Amino acid sequence: MTGFSTRQIQAGYVPATPQNSAVPPIYQTAAYEFGSLAEAADLFALRTAGNLYSRNASPTQQVLEERVAALEGGVSAVAVASGQAAVAVTLLALVGRGGHIVAATQLYGGTVDLLQETFDDFGIPVTFVDQDDTEAWRAAIRPETRVLFAESIANPIAQVLDIRAVADIAHAAGVPLVIDNTVGTPYLVRPGEHGADFVVHSATKFLSGHGTSLGGVVVDLGTFDAGREPARWPHFTEPYARVGDFTLWERFGIGQAFAALVKSKYVHDLGPSLSPFNAWQILQGIETLDLRVSRQSATALALARHLQQHPAVARVHHPGLEGTPWHALAERYLPRGGPSVFSFDLAVPRGADTHASVARVIDALRVIRLVANIGDARSLVNHPASMTHSHLTAAQREAAGISPTTIRLSAGLEDAADLIADLDRALALT
Ligand SMILES: *Cc1c(COP(=O)(O)O)cnc(C)c1O
Repeated sequence: MTGFSTRQIQAGYVPATPQNSAVPPIYQTAAYEFGSLAEAADLFALRTAGNLYSRNASPTQQVLEERVAALEGGVSAVAVASGQAAVAVTLLALVGRGGHIVAATQLYGGTVDLLQETFDDFGIPVTFVDQDDTEAWRAAIRPETRVLFAESIANPIAQVLDIRAVADIAHAAGVPLVIDNTVGTPYLVRPGEHGADFVVHSATKFLSGHGTSLGGVVVDLGTFDAGREPARWPHFTEPYARVGDFTLWERFGIGQAFAALVKSKYVHDLGPSLSPFNAWQILQGIETLDLRVSRQSATALALARHLQQHPAVARVHHPGLEGTPWHALAERYLPRGGPSVFSFDLAVPRGADTHASVARVIDALRVIRLVANIGDARSLVNHPASMTHSHLTAAQREAAGISPTTIRLSAGLEDAADLIADLDRALALT
């Protein structure tokens, strides 16, 4: 296999289209014309693969799928309309009917909403555990558990997961581990190398890097084997009634059956399809992923070090800093650099109004922008307690390490000196 930088520019595309376009074209069409009725029938029955209707896939999307699979070291991938959709269809496809999920407490706010409200409405039980507590992961597993879920680097506190420890617990229970690698990025960490079975991304963030387009991807790393315990996974191992009398596991097998189920059932039925234009935008972003992430990672560490010695800052949550709780895990899992999304807690003077102090600082920033996004070329801040994590209870925020004074930073590609000057000017107002 070629190196990471070559893969991020070339994987999944051979310019053998009739027009020989050097860059993957945008196939902006809702549907595809069949050569004959027999050809159409074969496509609908999953006997052959090909272009059918853009809810299922477009060729632009397929290039993106192959490219992200290549970057994560996976076998196949499915791209969908958003990271939220990627998490939802992945977990739905694994839990099947009657399954139970064990998930980390330290998750993106939108994922917490999905798991504890919408999945609860659907009757899908979820147990949340502190991701650093291996005993809690083990104790939460039930006979009907079908998947363990966590983020490689949690947002906004940048806790680093011991992926290998959680993967071993999942595999001892005979279930796969799904890792949300949005903040990690495949440049900094490839969860498949540490035992994860599926990786999901909000492609909106670092894969795009330009903040123009929503998208999500799930990669099958080719290690989940439903055939080993077929009774546990009837939706893979019993006849796939909607199409024919074959089973998905027989027809597609390890590494491919999951994508076939996600596309032909969950994306087909629920409809969170990726537009060809957004797939193309995300491909443009991926071409510079390693350059951007290495620069953002270095900038973030410089900002973290600066904030750590600033009198207006009580605490910096960045695992690259010596003496912080996740530093040893960062050294083990992130040898190429730490996350560029991290947080710090303001030191609010005794007796001062906490929220007013936080607001003064955030509203004074000029170079760093107040935007609910991460992984953008622009440096962005967010106040988790009143924005991305406002739906959580105070106790849930505390369990995730978020305080009312926590400010999240996503380091962009501007000059680090300008970002530091901007922070210093704003912090003088606490
Ligand atoms: C943003 C984000 C999501 C959701 O992705 P969208 O593309 O916004 O739907 C999921 N997980 C993490 C870690 C995220 O940061």
